[in-house]
Amino acid sequence: MTIGTVGDGITVERVTNQSTGYCPEPESWEAAADALDQIPVEHPDCFDPESVFRRCPTCSQINIVKDQWFVCGVCQSTLPALWNFV
Ligand SMILES: [Zn+2]
Repeated sequence: MTIGTVGDGITVERVTNQSTGYCPEPESWEAAADALDQIPVEHPDCFDPESVFRRCPTCSQINIVKDQWFVCGVCQSTLPALWNFV
């Protein structure tokens, strides 16, 4: 999250879902926006950058899916269409 100031107020300039642990789906934006609205603080309308994550079912590598290419970057196995971090 990047925080800046606009006038006398504080604003959140960027929020990303890129993580190395939980790897949240882009659809989790609504929960982030709700939390920021409760502060309240101005914020963007979406994650930036927004990432899609999948764990490889063959080698367990965490992958960032780019351009809808659901292939593991380590072992070339097909990655699942659905989020698989539990
Ligand atoms: Zn793999």
